[in-house]
Amino acid sequence: MTPKPICVGGEWRRGGGDVYASRYPADDSVNAELAAANVADVEEAIEAADAARRRPDWSGLKPHERAGVLYRISSLIRERAEELAQLQRRDNGKPISETRALVASAAGTFQFFAAACETLEETITPARGDYLSMSVHEPMGVIAAITPWNSPIASEAQKLAPALAAGNAVIVKPAEVTPLAALELGRICEQAGVPKGVVSVLPGKGSVIGDAIVKHPLVKKVSFTGGTMTGRALAQLAAKKLMPVTLELGGKSPTIVFEDADLDHAVHGVLFGIFSSSGESCIAGSRLFVHESIRTPFLERLVAKANALRVGDPEDPRTQMGPLITAKHRESIENYVQLGLDEGGRLLAGGERPRGDLFDRGWFYKPTVLTGLANDARICQEEIFGPVLVASPFRDEAALLEQANDSVFGLAAGIWTRDYKRAWRVARALEVGTVWINTYKQLSISTPFSGIKDSGVGIEKGRLGILQYKHQKSVYLGLNEAPLPWAD
Ligand code: ADP
Repeated sequence: MTPKPICVGGEWRRGGGDVYASRYPADDSVNAELAAANVADVEEAIEAADAARRRPDWSGLKPHERAGVLYRISSLIRERAEELAQLQRRDNGKPISETRALVASAAGTFQFFAAACETLEETITPARGDYLSMSVHEPMGVIAAITPWNSPIASEAQKLAPALAAGNAVIVKPAEVTPLAALELGRICEQAGVPKGVVSVLPGKGSVIGDAIVKHPLVKKVSFTGGTMTGRALAQLAAKKLMPVTLELGGKSPTIVFEDADLDHAVHGVLFGIFSSSGESCIAGSRLFVHESIRTPFLERLVAKANALRVGDPEDPRTQMGPLITAKHRESIENYVQLGLDEGGRLLAGGERPRGDLFDRGWFYKPTVLTGLANDARICQEEIFGPVLVASPFRDEAALLEQANDSVFGLAAGIWTRDYKRAWRVARALEVGTVWINTYKQLSISTPFSGIKDSGVGIEKGRLGILQYKHQKSVYLGLNEAPLPWAD
């Protein structure tokens, strides 16, 4: 197999690093081989990016012209939607229904930021003297977009689209195990008219090339999605350079079912919240708090439905849960479940691999529900990033809020109740970035997304998400007829 080319400063060529394979998590077959980028590629790509972003064919574009490029990227993604969805299914093993939705989301993201780009206004501020004072926004320069393996094309679009809309150049560093969709996105950017060098796509190990990208003096901002430990390390490197960061990190999101909830909606919502994407999602609703008065009937219904979820072939459009990303990641989930049992937990569902045929070749794991654990148990506190739900009862709202907020994370939460006043009160009291009331995991590109505490810094999405990739500049235009009086 000839290694697949990567995109270094506008050139498609073999990376200078080790050759490795992208593998299909459903059966471990090889999707493609590629040579990772090395540190020399990183330096070349960043220098090319800094030169390309200054050239008039990128820096001189009028907002509607730049928007035109983004609209074309969106159209090209839509034209190639099925191919991209299949590619991503192979890359990370998600069910095809999910990868189709992620591709549609990526196309929508470019369309949205195209609109934001051509409608973004700058302001004239109230003058307090004989001048016209203005606040304008300039591109930052070269942006590093470092993305994880769980929702590749959508994560990359979420960073690339606003960063390009803001007039920057971007170095995309996809997760080592899921490089394929990012590379195709790089090709699409070029076809859509992004000048060569403005976008590079550098697959490889985070600790080698991710680190080199972040430290490079020409990189002016990092937008990172991934684990909290990595995010913290990047923030420390960024602090040395006084460089801004946007960090979208881990979560351990509570989902709360009150006694007056519509149980059918709540059961469906809780299942979707934790088991879609096999739980490999930062916003997974991994801690269930259910009012003790409905605990038994609720858990019975939940467990029956969890056991009936269709785990299997990601190519089948009816499949709800595919394999986990790697054998190693499955082991880490198995270790957490064992830890939960050692800590005194009781299994209500799953807790094992499914067996037979395809299941024996890939990294599958059954939807798992545990109960009987105190809130300070490690599996109630640490992010597992897999299909594992921990269910706990609660008695009153104050105690519930204390437990729900007793977490280092603050990403998202779900509330199921028919009482709108309670829903509002609890939503405001939860220390998280996103709250869903009587729904879960609904996301819109037009709604800002952020985490607090160990879940992140800064926002993504939303019309003003574009400003995360620009710096604000003040301009005063003198209108005084006479010289400034001071020197008289
Ligand atoms: P996950 O647990 O989702 O794999 P990681 O934080 O390990 O989360 O990885 C997210 C992204 O960060 C990946 O693209 C990975 O290669 C990259 N990465 C990992 N370590 C570093 C590092 N030290 N510097 C820069 N990027 C890194």
